[in-house]
Amino acid sequence: MTKKPQNLFEMAQAQLDEAASLLNLEPGVHAILREPIREFHVSIPVKMDDGRAEVFKGFRVQHNNARGPFKGGIRFHPDETIDVVKALATWMTWKCAVIDIPLGGGKGGVICNPLEMSEGELERLSRGYIDAIWEFIGPDRDIPAPDVFTNPQIMGWMMDEYSKFKGYCSFPGVITGKPLSIGGSVGRGDATARGGVYAVVEAAKHLKIDLNNSVVAIQGFGNAGSNAALLMRDLFNSKIIAVSDYRGGIHNEKGLDPHKVVQYLQKTGSVVDFPEADNISNSELLELDADILFPAAIETVITGENASRIKAKLIPELANGPTTPEADDILYQKGTFIIPDILCNAGGVTVSYFEWVQNSARYYWDEDEVHQRLNKHMTRSFQAVLTESLKRKVDMRVAAYVVAVARVAEAMKLRGWV
Ligand code: NAD
Repeated sequence: MTKKPQNLFEMAQAQLDEAASLLNLEPGVHAILREPIREFHVSIPVKMDDGRAEVFKGFRVQHNNARGPFKGGIRFHPDETIDVVKALATWMTWKCAVIDIPLGGGKGGVICNPLEMSEGELERLSRGYIDAIWEFIGPDRDIPAPDVFTNPQIMGWMMDEYSKFKGYCSFPGVITGKPLSIGGSVGRGDATARGGVYAVVEAAKHLKIDLNNSVVAIQGFGNAGSNAALLMRDLFNSKIIAVSDYRGGIHNEKGLDPHKVVQYLQKTGSVVDFPEADNISNSELLELDADILFPAAIETVITGENASRIKAKLIPELANGPTTPEADDILYQKGTFIIPDILCNAGGVTVSYFEWVQNSARYYWDEDEVHQRLNKHMTRSFQAVLTESLKRKVDMRVAAYVVAVARVAEAMKLRGWV
């Protein structure tokens, strides 16, 4: 790489550039893929509980829809920036392509701190966000979903607000990750973690790692992280030695019971000070002696500075963009096997796609069917990326990009865009 990326979007562009050069991508196709097709910046006025009006800044970015409608989550986060949302929208394009579902890439974000807002304020903000962007989304146009600090209830409010604009009482396919009783899919709740675990099973076969009793550390204990802990413990009796959240981490070398940690989190709002563990920092967690390290919180936590101290043999990236390109190089040299984010955490969008399919068919599958179909997508995609990685002698991230970019480029050509 010639220039060190200055922000997450430049990091996403640098990753594309590498795949483009391996694929000898036409310059016109490459240029289109380097930038989102469009981005919206919106101001959302919200009446706060104390009577004040506060104006929140929000974004929706539509990166590419050559393979199908834009698709991507909405994050509510105090540190949200347009560059982060642009990077995430770009990754959604690759994620949908690598997992081979007929959707494109989009992403949304609102700068706010949902942990300091009441339920009423959150509902008004969620509805206000849809008021600002409803003309540009829709079941065949752009389909949002939950992401960091947004959840099924928020999706329910957003779907309801959209339905009001359309004048129909129900528009379930406009948003996925909804509660079950208003068009959600069974299996969506833990889909990201479950898809990641299916990929871990394939990686373990390739690396000849025995998952039974494996030692696991997990950064982030939200939707992705807590479900990964529960699944690894319940399926493989893994020893979960550490988990964390935005306030810090907890560590017990003998293993934590993730079911108890979930209960504690529900009671106290954080995993910190869990009685059967010692508190540690989020950065200490990354360097623990574990077989498997799941980054499941935020971006750029594994960097050129700490990569050489990471001991895990396998890093399934449930979070988006947790590893910088500098860290990628160091870990590849060390022989650490990364299951890259666009593949590893694609289970969420895959079951979102199933939800969208079920919404349009008005027919709903049972949980076994969702799990089986998810497993098929994850296993097939993992094997396609692994084959590309072995063939080209590149790491799994570059291989995943090569697979994804080639598929999107083909769709653009067939549509006659270039
Ligand atoms: P979540 O809001 O449910 O949980 C996020 C977790 O990260 C929480 O434990 C939170 O406390 C923690 N966190 C937030 N800021 C932090 C910080 N600065 N340091 C350490 N921890 C911090 O979100 P989620 O849905 O579990 O998403 C986690 C990651 O997985 C994100 O990168 C997201 O983009 C990615 N992801 C999620 C899905 C999904 O379906 N939920 C799908 C694909 C990718």
